[in-house]
Amino acid sequence: MVAVQSDVAGAVALTDPRTGEHLGRVQLIPPSAVERLARTAHEAFSAWARVPLSERCSLVLEMARILEHGIGDLAVSFSQEHGKTVAEAEAELRRAVEMLRWSAEAAQDVVRSSELPDRAGTERIVAIEPGGPVLAIVPWNFPAVVLARKLGPALVMGCPVVVKAPDETPAVAAAFDRAATAAGLPHGTVQVVHASPSVSDALVRRPEFATVTFTGSTRVGRLVAAAAAANLTPCVLELGGHAPAVITADADLDLAVAALVAAKFGSTGQSCGAPSRFLVDRRVHDAFVKKLVEQAPLCDHQQVPSGAPGTMGPLNNARRVEAVHGLVLDALRRGARLRLGGAPLDRSGHYYPATVITDVPVDARVLLEEPFGPIAPVVAYDGEDSAIAMANSTDYALSAYVFGDPGRTDRLCRSLNAGSVSLNCTAGAAPDAPLGGRGASGYGYEGGSQGLLAFGRLKILQRPRSEEAAMGH
Ligand code: NAD
Repeated sequence: MVAVQSDVAGAVALTDPRTGEHLGRVQLIPPSAVERLARTAHEAFSAWARVPLSERCSLVLEMARILEHGIGDLAVSFSQEHGKTVAEAEAELRRAVEMLRWSAEAAQDVVRSSELPDRAGTERIVAIEPGGPVLAIVPWNFPAVVLARKLGPALVMGCPVVVKAPDETPAVAAAFDRAATAAGLPHGTVQVVHASPSVSDALVRRPEFATVTFTGSTRVGRLVAAAAAANLTPCVLELGGHAPAVITADADLDLAVAALVAAKFGSTGQSCGAPSRFLVDRRVHDAFVKKLVEQAPLCDHQQVPSGAPGTMGPLNNARRVEAVHGLVLDALRRGARLRLGGAPLDRSGHYYPATVITDVPVDARVLLEEPFGPIAPVVAYDGEDSAIAMANSTDYALSAYVFGDPGRTDRLCRSLNAGSVSLNCTAGAAPDAPLGGRGASGYGYEGGSQGLLAFGRLKILQRPRSEEAAMGH
């Protein structure tokens, strides 16, 4: 709730991904603001941690109510900055509100002292205490739901939060900031800022932060972990993904294609959990590809943030168009076959069409690097072991999908190296379920009691029940 304005000319331009038109400027904080922000959070901590849990939860519920009330207008500006359709923006905002509510409701059960059995006549209690100020670094692709998965748990756990908001999509973080103020959260409990990479790095290095929670690319995640290590500050790192979708010979192909099209092309493929490598049993490969090509969405041709059913918006920025196209060209150069899409649309804005490529060789970059765009590379496999080996062949391990007979896919599902494996569905992260990556997809969890406890600290309180026990007899 502290509006930090740059006292230097540090600002980034905001453009409309549909038209490339200038939307405004986002002011970055100067390096000199870093210490003040961290100190303010530190000072706010002693007061906020003492606010009773029930009261902290009520304030977060009030914040959720205020945000929910403004969803209609916010979804329009969010869509305009991001490129996702208004319907997608609205759905994400609703999920964010749900996350805030869940945090406030679940905290009452999670933040409870528990008793261990007496040991040598000593009573032992495990207490959960607020950990301290939190630095939350948020990406542009899901700025509402990612922010809610950090902010809700941290606040109810008694931790003030400095939010390093994404420059590409500032409207959402600004709305959270206003909602925190309007709900009556104390000064300094929520501070939302925009910052350059070097200033963000300086924030990570501040000793006042007890926890850094970062969602973003694996590349920046490694930098954040290294910077936090200077003070041994624990991190939660929710990083990139490259999810395999394994389609077995007995899969219901209509169900598989309908679910995978929605998950693949939603938010124009700019989702960490999107299926991004399609491994299909050779016996159903051609039938699967035919349905996938038929059902892939068209680009939304209206230059307004609307989004009719069966359409998708543009990519968020020009860098993404270049990166996605580079992966497609690389695969084609190595012998892949183009079945749909494959080149940026010849019009203003950052449009890249739904793209399907088959016969993709295993060394193609699109199978190794997070594509983060509307590309569906399809690879045929022979035999379950080969599917498992291919699925587990990248360093990423965030999400995986399997479509097949539930009676015959247990071994396959259990063999996949991922933080979440979904069978015959593509359900996204739910507030009450811990979701986290492994390997290059990061560590730590968001959601569930684990997501709340990341911001708490445990303390064992022990006292002898008798004098003999005190003497160790
Ligand atoms: P990014 O890594 O480029 O940036 C993430 C955030 O870090 C931004 O706010 C950015 O300004 C900030 N940042 C940049 N340099 C920094 C530095 N040196 N120190 C501290 N902060 C710095 O990622 P992005 O392009 O904003 O987001 C897309 C990425 O996020 C994709 O890789 C996607 O898979 C990942 N993601 C992961 C999850 C998950 O739950 N695992 C969810 C959403 C997005």
